[in-house]
Formats: sequence, C-alpha cells, structure tokens
Amino acid sequence: MSLILALDFGGTKLSAAVLERGQKRWRALERAPSRPHATAEDDLSLCSHLAAEVLAGARPAAVGVSFGGPVEAVRGVVRLSDHVLGWEDYPLKDHLGDHFGAGVSVDNDANTAALGEFTYGAGRGCDSLLYVTVSTGVGGGWVLGGRVWRGHDGMAGEIGHTLADANGPRCYCGKRGCVERLASGPYLAAHARELLGTQPEAGEKLRALVGGDVEAVTAKHVAETAARGDALAREVLERAAWALGVGLGNAANLMNPERVVLGGGVTKSGERYWRVVREVARATARSQIRLEIVPAALEDDAPLWGAVALAEGLLAPSPAS
Ligand SMILES: [Zn+2]
Repeated sequence: MSLILALDFGGTKLSAAVLERGQKRWRALERAPSRPHATAEDDLSLCSHLAAEVLAGARPAAVGVSFGGPVEAVRGVVRLSDHVLGWEDYPLKDHLGDHFGAGVSVDNDANTAALGEFTYGAGRGCDSLLYVTVSTGVGGGWVLGGRVWRGHDGMAGEIGHTLADANGPRCYCGKRGCVERLASGPYLAAHARELLGTQPEAGEKLRALVGGDVEAVTAKHVAETAARGDALAREVLERAAWALGVGLGNAANLMNPERVVLGGGVTKSGERYWRVVREVARATARSQIRLEIVPAALEDDAPLWGAVALAEGLLAPSPAS
C-alpha cells in the first residue's frame, strides 16, 4: 500500500493529510493554526508534528506540498512568506525529503489549488483551466494541457494585479486600479466604509448589521446586506464583481481556457455577484470565446488535493489508473 502525504503551509494555518494512493478520501487529516509571530522553524516543527500524527508510524511513498507564498517549484525552494519570517530562500523540498525519506514536490498555493480543482474538483475533465481565488487577495493559477503553467519566473496567474480601471485607486503593489485593489475582500470592505463615511443617509441595513460601527464592516457584511437589498452594499459588491469580470474576460482573451473556477470567501457573495462577474467577463471577452465560470468544489482543501496530485506526479503510474 502506497501512502501519499499532503502538506499545506497556509500562512495562518497548517494542514497535513494522508491518503492511500488511488483513494479519494483522507485516511487522516489534521489542522492547526500557525502561532502568532511564528517563524519558519516553528511552522516546520508544527508541520512535522501534524505529519507524524496522520502517518501514525507509516512512511509516505511521496510528499506533495502547498506553500502560501512564492516558490521556485523545480528546486522546491521557498522565496519568502508574506506572513511568516524566516522562509527566505528556504530549501523546503530538500528539508522534507531528508525528514520523510521520500520524494517531495512543492508549489505555491494558487498553483496547487488550481491543480487540485483540475484533478479532483470543479475542473475535472477539462483540458485547460484558470483557477482564481478571491479572498484577502486575488490570486490565480493555470493548468494548461494537464500541466501547471508557472511562467518563466514562476509568476504566472497574477490576475490580481492586472488592470481593471486605469483611473482606479492605488493598489499596495504601486499601480492603479488592479483587479485585487477593487475585488478583494479587504479592499471592497474599505470601499464600503468609505462610502458609509461620505453618505450618512445611505447603507441603512449595512450600518444596522454592524450596530453603527462603520469601522467593523467586512466583505461578508457587505454581501449579506447586498442580498437583503441594501443599495450601498450592492453598489460596492457590483463594483468588485465588475473588476473581477474584467480581469477574467481579459485572461480569457489571452489564453482561452476551457473553464474558469472561482474560489475564496468573496465568491460566496450570492447570485447577483455571480451574475455581474459572468456578464462583465462575457462582455470583455471576444464573442467567439466560450466562457464557463463555475464555483470551486474543494474550497479550503483545494491546495491539499493539489499537493496529492503533485505527489502522484512523483510516482510511477499505478496499475489502477
Ligand atoms: Zn496591484
């Protein structure tokens, strides 16, 4: 029996899961939050603890790893983590290879999530797929012809920093009107707070939901009150959906993927949100492009499933498949 170990270094939490090769169900899965102010060393020791629990003394045949930050996938070296110190140029693949005595394959979380959805989720049966997650940021990953397309510098899929509105507000990356600047959860919540500040009469339901504490407004509050007809919340949410739609339509014009899979908390903002995203993407893409935009199936587990697919790639084809 071959066991596959899947690890997810998620920035705020770590997960380890194990399954028997060819199975579609975890044999064991453990998660733990990353400690505040944790270092890379802390995360690695927590990860090895979780892995020991799920492996229960067994040795994995291969290990797949999703990392929440830029990774040089071929060498398996982490470039850095936006959340945790000490990951700069860390040879994660070699470290885990020594630790587990097995082959290890590492990639960033957007690529592993794309691969997970492609292999086990909403992208099954596709030839090509663009996966986009919309939550605290907007990230993306490509699977083309069955393989992750990483780009020359490993930076493919940065749809969050493609342009939606040249006259839009400034993004943290330094440019104006990026998709992420308009469509991510924190930025759309900031937009709502700004409008609530300048329009004291508007956003009644949104204000009521946070008990008048405008500073407490989150993207979830906006989605909830937009669904209940709050005009200000709808305006904010539609602006975010519009920006995402522009980004997806432009991506489709460039690459013409068979399917676009959308995941992340913000994409749970309701029918109206999805309708605007689809309509704007449709209007942005050339009319000959068939654009299928569907919700992610694996959600938070997509990177873990992608890690399984990475590990599978290290093993000889099994007789069953
Ligand atoms: Zn940007």
